[in-house]
Amino acid sequence: MKYKLLVVGTMAYDAIETPFGKVDKILGGAATYIGLAASSFSIDCAVVSVVGEDFEKEHLALLKDKGIDVSGVEIVPGGETFFWSGRYHNDLNTRTTLDTRLNVLENFDPKIPDHFFTPDIVMLGNLSPDVQLAALTQIKNKPKLVVLDTMNFWMDHARESLDKVIAKVDVISINDEEARQLTDQYSLVKAAQMIHEMGPKYVIIKKGEHGALLFHNNEIFCAPALPLEEVFDPTGAGDSFAGGFTGYLTQTGDISFSNMKSAIIYGSAMASFTVEKFGTENLVNVSHQAMSDRLKAFKELTTFEIELE
Ligand code: AMP
Repeated sequence: MKYKLLVVGTMAYDAIETPFGKVDKILGGAATYIGLAASSFSIDCAVVSVVGEDFEKEHLALLKDKGIDVSGVEIVPGGETFFWSGRYHNDLNTRTTLDTRLNVLENFDPKIPDHFFTPDIVMLGNLSPDVQLAALTQIKNKPKLVVLDTMNFWMDHARESLDKVIAKVDVISINDEEARQLTDQYSLVKAAQMIHEMGPKYVIIKKGEHGALLFHNNEIFCAPALPLEEVFDPTGAGDSFAGGFTGYLTQTGDISFSNMKSAIIYGSAMASFTVEKFGTENLVNVSHQAMSDRLKAFKELTTFEIELE
């Protein structure tokens, strides 16, 4: 029997500018990247989201072909799909959001399909915190783990609801800038402590090309990012990370801290594929061999021997 992962998040069209090129309208969205990354694992995965009538059939088919259950993706007749546009700066670690058009997301009332009322793991991808809460209240049994991703947009526009959802999750995954904005703390260690106090037992802080940190009580695990020759487009790196992280945890059914460390490496490997091409282009073609080569590279990068007295 396969374990179940429920993903809630945006499906979108993105316009992206990086120092290497520009695209006006490509498939994006948090749930899209998370679902595609998670579909590499041997799990049952469903995505709950909303799109407009303009959403191309081939894009929904792409998810279906990967074995993702899309029966919880609502298509709003006459509606327009969520649109996001961003520009990356020269270091590719920072970006400016140029436009966020909520469109069909504005009145979205998520409906979890009956057969996903009892998922093992829930991944609340970046989305309005009210929608994240509405999804969470439909889950019947307490899942093994609820993981949350969010971003500065929701901290600016829906802080009260965001605090409510943060209080209900086990793991939060955000980037360093977002952790600082959420807590008003420059030190990431202090920021993680404050976030623990808000609810999540596990705090993941992503640092782009500098890797990710996992905090749990007084323990910290630090994973590097793979030094890559070419980075074209960091869009979706955080979501691919979340998909790899939750996909691996769901497949193994083990949510111990030590297994979370491995999950962080799977997530980081998945993100490393995404950033090598624009949008989802690389993520949809990740082979088992390529994944295993990359995991090996992570291991070699971080293994060393020191004799301690
Ligand atoms: P990431 O680079 O992992 O942070 O995720 C990028 C994806 O997030 C893009 O494909 C966007 O469509 C989506 N996105 C951007 N802004 C938002 C937002 N405010 N809420 C939900 N999803 C968003």
